[in-house]
Amino acid sequence: MTEHVDVLIVGAGLSGIGAAYYLQTRCPKKRYAILEGRDTIGGTWDLFRYPGVRSDSDMYTLGYSFRPWHDPKAIADGPSILAYIKETAQANGIDRHIRFNHRVRRAEWSSAEARWTVEVERGLDREPMRLTCSFLFMCSGYYDYDHGYMPEWPGVEQFAGKIVHPQHWPPDLDYTGKRVVVIGSGATAVTLVPTVAKQAAHVTLLQRSPTYIASQPAEDAFANRLRRYLPLGLAYSLIRWKNVLTSMAYYNLMRWQPARMKQNLINLVRAQLGPAYDVDTHFTPRYNPWDQRLCLVPDGDLFAAIKAGTVSMVTDHIDTFTPTGIRLRSGAELDADIIVTATGLLMKLMGGLQLAVDGRPIDPAQTMSYKGLMFSDIPNLAAAIGYTNASWTLKCELVSRYVCRLLKYMDQRGYVQCTPRQTDPTITAEPILNFSSGYVQRALSSLPSQGSKRPWKLYQNYLLDLLTFRYGKVDDGTLEFMRRRRARRAARQRGSR
Ligand SMILES: Cc1cc2nc3c(=O)[nH]c(=O)nc-3n(C[C@H](O)[C@H](O)[C@H](O)COP(=O)(O)OP(=O)(O)OC[C@H]3O[C@@H](n4cnc5c(N)ncnc54)[C@H](O)[C@@H]3O)c2cc1C
Repeated sequence: MTEHVDVLIVGAGLSGIGAAYYLQTRCPKKRYAILEGRDTIGGTWDLFRYPGVRSDSDMYTLGYSFRPWHDPKAIADGPSILAYIKETAQANGIDRHIRFNHRVRRAEWSSAEARWTVEVERGLDREPMRLTCSFLFMCSGYYDYDHGYMPEWPGVEQFAGKIVHPQHWPPDLDYTGKRVVVIGSGATAVTLVPTVAKQAAHVTLLQRSPTYIASQPAEDAFANRLRRYLPLGLAYSLIRWKNVLTSMAYYNLMRWQPARMKQNLINLVRAQLGPAYDVDTHFTPRYNPWDQRLCLVPDGDLFAAIKAGTVSMVTDHIDTFTPTGIRLRSGAELDADIIVTATGLLMKLMGGLQLAVDGRPIDPAQTMSYKGLMFSDIPNLAAAIGYTNASWTLKCELVSRYVCRLLKYMDQRGYVQCTPRQTDPTITAEPILNFSSGYVQRALSSLPSQGSKRPWKLYQNYLLDLLTFRYGKVDDGTLEFMRRRRARRAARQRGSR
């Protein structure tokens, strides 16, 4: 007998634990399981172990709305976030539902049976097994866990020192007294560099082009004061709203007045580094704020390390690796004992899951994202994918609550299948993400599209989504609902064609 669950959650990271919490509190009769490919909980916050790993969102919005964040630090380190996810799972009995070392490989929907058959590899010897479920909830993150992005550079094999990717940081790597070159300009690079610089002889941050970097206090003084005077739950939700609204205001201001905000951001860097520093070369991006993700540094730690002389910035292109380091196009040479390739992630939708519907393989790139959580012509499947311009959890919680609303709606009316159908000829396909960052551009052709109008358009706007997900009609004319008999009949008709 193949085991059947009502809802199968894939992934035990921040989203998967949140999804399980909502499912068991709002749909307590649903039987669910969480399949996790790794042997532990936490996803991102367990995988990434490089020195200084931390959030760059505040934990009042990256944390769950139902579990207050206690730590005075709003910008939290990786181990604290991991502990928070584990505690949430334990406190709510979610950990009992997780099956570790279960990697989901393929899922096929049968309209005749109104269920997914999910193929899984279990354990280290990848023993195949199957499960069925009525609803598949993908909480599998957005990138490839096995490989980070590594450009091909000439001469890499000549380098006599160690090359390390932050996604696979060796626990025993000793960089004390070593010369370290970190290649990259994103969040990982700016996080790593000040921490490594505390022990290394010197750290060079080598970037092809600059990124916007803004300093933010690691501790939110207002939040800490409020927590002293108000009950924890109330203080947490007030601070969460304050942070949602201020970050939305900043984001919109930056998109509305890019030239002015660009200048403001650069002036702030200049104020940190002093008038003599070459901010034009190293901290003045060629794009507008939020064309790519803005990097935050807590308490200006990167700037402090630059001023202290333990970190230097180099903006140039790699000509070749050499036995002793890197030669740049300008002719300069960077000597290194260790080179860290903070060159980013490889995006991977839904953990690389292969999908089929009634025997027909699905190419995700041919689908359109519905409200940023379901996909055209794929029944009974949702994916928790967070915001690009705000904390991941804000969107994932909305998605989880919406899934519960959808499941209840279907149960009340006896529906077994719901499928987003794009039948409006006036809607045109657009790229799902509008970031110019390399990791997004490299992946776009393999990702679903978004539509030019609601409900297919992604607004990356929490307030708008909050209204849509909580109060918008479930039966909005785009979701097609079917009861068992009709789903069977439709499947038979498709089969006989
Ligand atoms: C270094 C780093 C820092 C970040 N900082 C922030 C931040 O400050 N703010 C922010 O909003 N976002 C940040 N992000 C984005 C971050 O990924 C999200 O905040 C969040 O942790 C994602 O949670 P998740 O549960 O959706 O995905 P993940 O944390 O990626 O977890 C997905 C889980 O699914 C499992 N899985 C995947 N595929 C399968 C499969 N086929 N079968 C079984 N299991 C599978 C994985 O093993 C993993 O455990 C950061 C990302 C990184 C890499």
